[in-house]
This record gives sequence, structure tokens and C-alpha cells, in this order.
Amino acid sequence: MKTFAGPLLAGLAFPVERTRGRRFPEPPHPYRNEFHRDRDRIVHSRAFRRLENKMQVFASGISDHFRNRLTHTIEVSQIARTVASTLGLDEDLTEALALVHDVGHPPFAHAGEEELNRQMQRYGETFNHNVHALRVVDAFEQRYARFPGLNLTFEVREGIVKHSHDLEPGADPELDEYLPGLRPPLEAQLIDLADEIAYDTADLDDAYSARMFSLADVRTAVPEFERLHDRIEGQFPGAPERVQFQEVVRILVDELVSDLVTGTIERAEKSGVEDHEGVRRLDRRLAGFASDETAAHLKCFLHDRVSFAEPLVSERRRCAAMIGELFDRFQAHPERLPENYVEEMANQPLHRIVCDYIAGMTDGFFMRCYESR
Ligand code: MG
Repeated sequence: MKTFAGPLLAGLAFPVERTRGRRFPEPPHPYRNEFHRDRDRIVHSRAFRRLENKMQVFASGISDHFRNRLTHTIEVSQIARTVASTLGLDEDLTEALALVHDVGHPPFAHAGEEELNRQMQRYGETFNHNVHALRVVDAFEQRYARFPGLNLTFEVREGIVKHSHDLEPGADPELDEYLPGLRPPLEAQLIDLADEIAYDTADLDDAYSARMFSLADVRTAVPEFERLHDRIEGQFPGAPERVQFQEVVRILVDELVSDLVTGTIERAEKSGVEDHEGVRRLDRRLAGFASDETAAHLKCFLHDRVSFAEPLVSERRRCAAMIGELFDRFQAHPERLPENYVEEMANQPLHRIVCDYIAGMTDGFFMRCYESR
């Protein structure tokens, strides 16, 4: 196993004192820096607490052991912080971004996002969970008397918008302030990849618990899994299959994280970039895996055996149909929307109000709304 002597890329860290600041200026805190404050604000937000009752891949109620969106978020944060501290990047900025990365997810995960997007396209608009997350932190959270939203720093809001894709200049005039054409800080670039490590390995673990595939299936489809499993079987021949499986998943997480650290260092060295401004000006992101093979094999297996397995496909169809139905119901009966909500959103068209209202719901609250006629 490769060892790392950090802090390897400390020169590329985003210096907190160089933040572009908040939309509504605030006096500094005596001992918490700006990114530290952002992280704390996110943890205290209602949108963050709602993550507990939003599904990741498997609906709650089947088992208490599956990840929900909150436990997934904590795993992403842990992975991202490990990478950031090993590389010498800003851990507070990284953690804030990891903790906020899924607050824009509607109920029922991707089925919910796709259905809301489909509904909005009927009105020539779109729904995207990253843009929605920005609206949550900029407007929907109402906790402070002096400003709407959480008043987060520019870099955290930029990281939310650029979670998985950079912005092309002119692509979306509403997002023009978030430096289209430039890469986000390296801390923000880590989040999408930490997310990928967390959900691929967690989906493998949860789907195995749900008996969606056998040990033999994953050994055949993912050569890296087979190699690690052979090693674990040799080391612990008497251990139960379940424990051997856990050992392999544990090492897989570790190897993917190490691969992300190595890959990012290699790319940084090759680019010759010297500081956070150089990171922004590169024509592609610096953060990346040294080898895409393990992640690619894992993804391919999960795609076939989990995401597109019949039980999950029909569950998504059922959830999407319920979202579509509730959307139509609120459109036909806007008086059923909460009064304060409509007042606050007074300048928006009805379909946007309905979309925002449903998008903020937890899975449990959605079901209560859906079932009360
Ligand atoms: Mg995520």
C-alpha cells in the first residue's frame, strides 16, 4: 500500500482569507473562520435535518441498516475530509461542501428528480438538484433576521452549483455570478468523487444485504473484488461470508480513496499549477482517480444488478407516478398549499411554487401529503 507524507498539495488549498465573501456582509467571528461558520450553518439547517428522512437508493422501512441521505452525506464528508487533509487542502471548506451536497434532493432520490424535471419541462423549465440546493441555502432556509437563507460564502455556493459539472459561459444567465468557464477550487472538485466512492461502495454493501446478488456474482463481474476477496479468504478462511464481504468493501473504499489522492497529485504535478488561482484557470479539473478501472467495473455491475434490477425500476416508476399525481393535485388546488409558503413565493408562477414545495419534502412527509385527500 502506498503511503502518503502530507501535506502534499497545500500550495493549492483555497486560502479562507481570499473568500469572495457573503451576499450580505457580516462581521467576522472571534474564533471561527468563514468556512467553519458555513459548515456549522449547514449542520443547523432544516434542509440538513430532512436528509434523515430521504432515501438514498433503498426506501426506508425495508431495513434499518440501509443508508439514507443523511448517513450517505456523513460518509461523503468523512471520505472528502480524509482526502483533503492528506493533500493539505482546506478541511472546513471541504466538509461544508460535503455536508451540503445533497440538500437539494427531492423525495425518492433520482426518481423524484427526474419526475420533477419532467413536470417542469411542460412549462419550458427544468429541475436540477444542485440548482435547487442553491435556492435552499439562498432563500428557503429562514433562520436569520438580517437576511434570507444561510448567507453562505461564495465558494460554498459556487461548489454547490458546480458539484458535478463546470459552468459553460452563457449557458445559464441565472448562474452567471458563479464564474462560468473557470474550475471551482480543488476542495470543491473532491466532492463529486468522494460522493462516487461513497455511493458505489454503499450501494454494493446495501444491495448485498438486500440479497440482490451473490458473492459469486460480484466476484465474476468485478476483477478487483475477486482479487481482494481471494486475499481475505486466504487470511481469514473461517470468517463468515458476510464478514469477508465487509472486509472487501472496507478495503475497496480505502483503495479508491488512495487512488483519488494519487491521481490528484499526479495531475497536479503534470499541470505545473502553483496556486488556487491556477487551479481555476486550468482547462479541466485536477481532482481525479489514478485509474478509472475499479470504479468503472463497480459501476457497470451496480448498473445491471442494482439500479436497473426489476424491483428498483418498478419502485422508481411507482414513486414518479405519485410525484406526478401530487404535482397535478396542487396545480388544480393551489389552496391546499401552505399559506405562508405561497406568500413567501408570491412572485413565482404556480408550477414553480409546487415544484419547490414538493422538492423540499421528505419521503415521509410526501407520503402523508399524498395519502391525505
Ligand atoms: Mg450524494
